[in-house]
Amino acid sequence: MLGLMQDVPLTVDRLLTHAATWHGDREVISRDADGHVTRSDYARVHADAQRVSNALRRAGVQQGDRIATLGWNGARHLAAWYGIAGIGAICHTLNPRLFLEQIVYIANHAGDRMLLADPACAPIVEELRQKVPTLREIIFLCDRASLPATSFPAIAFDDWIADEEPAATWGGLDERLACGLCYTSGTTGNPKGVLYSHRSNSIHAMMTLQADALALSARDTVLLVVPMYHANAWGVVYSAPAVGAKLVLPGQRMDGASLHALIESEGVTYSAAVPTVWQMLLQHVQETGAGFSTLKRVTIGGSACPESIIRTFRDDYGVDVVQGWGMTETSPLATVSILSPKVAALPEAEQMAYKLKQGRLLAGLELKITDDAGNRLPHDGQTPGRLMIKGPTIAASYYGGDGGDVLDEEGFFDTGDVSTIDPRGYMQITDRAKDVVKSGGEWISSIEIENIATGHPAVHIAAVIGIAHPKWDERPILLCQLKPGETATAADLSDYLDGRIARWWMPDDVLFVDEIPLGPTGKIDKKRIRAGLEGYTLP
Ligand code: ADP
Repeated sequence: MLGLMQDVPLTVDRLLTHAATWHGDREVISRDADGHVTRSDYARVHADAQRVSNALRRAGVQQGDRIATLGWNGARHLAAWYGIAGIGAICHTLNPRLFLEQIVYIANHAGDRMLLADPACAPIVEELRQKVPTLREIIFLCDRASLPATSFPAIAFDDWIADEEPAATWGGLDERLACGLCYTSGTTGNPKGVLYSHRSNSIHAMMTLQADALALSARDTVLLVVPMYHANAWGVVYSAPAVGAKLVLPGQRMDGASLHALIESEGVTYSAAVPTVWQMLLQHVQETGAGFSTLKRVTIGGSACPESIIRTFRDDYGVDVVQGWGMTETSPLATVSILSPKVAALPEAEQMAYKLKQGRLLAGLELKITDDAGNRLPHDGQTPGRLMIKGPTIAASYYGGDGGDVLDEEGFFDTGDVSTIDPRGYMQITDRAKDVVKSGGEWISSIEIENIATGHPAVHIAAVIGIAHPKWDERPILLCQLKPGETATAADLSDYLDGRIARWWMPDDVLFVDEIPLGPTGKIDKKRIRAGLEGYTLP
């Protein structure tokens, strides 16, 4: 017997319509590249999103067409995002920080029909115009005065939507229709497209709003540092409007001073970003002696969160850090390191071990760890296995069928991560399958050594790489980028690690480098480090 409840499709347009109707005057703040701040609100963003829908329809855009965006976090981008999804087209967020050839590859692979780009991305746009034959229209996300110089007649977003009615027919769509397309950054092989549906994004927004997840509320002011082109913006583009949280969109400038100024001037209470962004911000506040007068909570994810960040935020600034884990393919948030009552009752020193884990699973998802043959492994907190995940917010396949069948026979997606799960249900990533250091038949977690090394007072960023070894298969080496003005020797680092990690995990060498290369989403780029180490031999 079917339930007798209303079968209202879960489409994302409803989230912004809700925000406009019930939190219409709640502010949406954007900062331009030149530092200029524009104030809007959900009612105005909604009206602009509807104008976008009308402009798209006028241009002949159909359901399922891919409309690309190439830009930073801002209110025009937000309106475009909803305006595209509202008519059943697909908002394809391109990452301007990727190498040009990768952006060209991705736009061609997606068959993007139209592009809405930040004026600062004009050089990339020129290339895309030449190299992406499906691309028919280009709009710059700015007013007429800010249009860049281009080799073609450029159209400003504000002009493009100026004469459109601020009302459009949204809804009436199948909730399973695609609404967003986001490519993984290709840390392994070619980038692959993850195609979100209205249903998956709506469910993800509800899931992540739980008190034990992002816990956003109407009283929050949310600084969305996570770029809108990275992993579905961690769903915050949907969850913040769903509760009417004030939204602060920081644009292109992500340095510590710029972010800190925005946090203080807008009264930010919550933010989410990758660890490297927080490292820069903390360095800035430590150097200037500035503090945080409103910031209460931050979610850190995308790569493992070093203990030093959690401690500094908590002990020096009274800010609570919660670590989250996920990936583009998981919408992305799937686990959070919230303390269970039993863990919260432990002495503070023991709690930290749990905060450093990637955490417990959100309701609606299933998780398992397996060996290479697919057998389930125990949740003993010791045995590392392939991390597999299943649920309505998890990818079932990639756009265009890339990568073939990505689910196992039980319907679980292979994350490519290696993790343990402890008896209390805390999952801990020990490595990405391709970064794990395989020494003497056992696995050494590069992430764990990196986290500990980053705790050394002179170290800014640490990276561990497995180097081929004739006897052990591979041995780890440690690369350190020191904080400006700091000095340390290889012996200092070895002494620091001694006693903090198992003897056989001790890196065979410590190298000091001017800069550890970071990838386009702020993560350590091990592919480039490995390339730079070509010809290196262990001492
Ligand atoms: P990319 O593959 O392009 O880096 P994602 O941004 O989707 O794409 O990254 C997902 C990966 O980031 C995960 O598979 C995992 O390896 C890593 N990751 C995400 N959050 C964490 C975390 N809290 N701790 C450790 N690793 C993390």
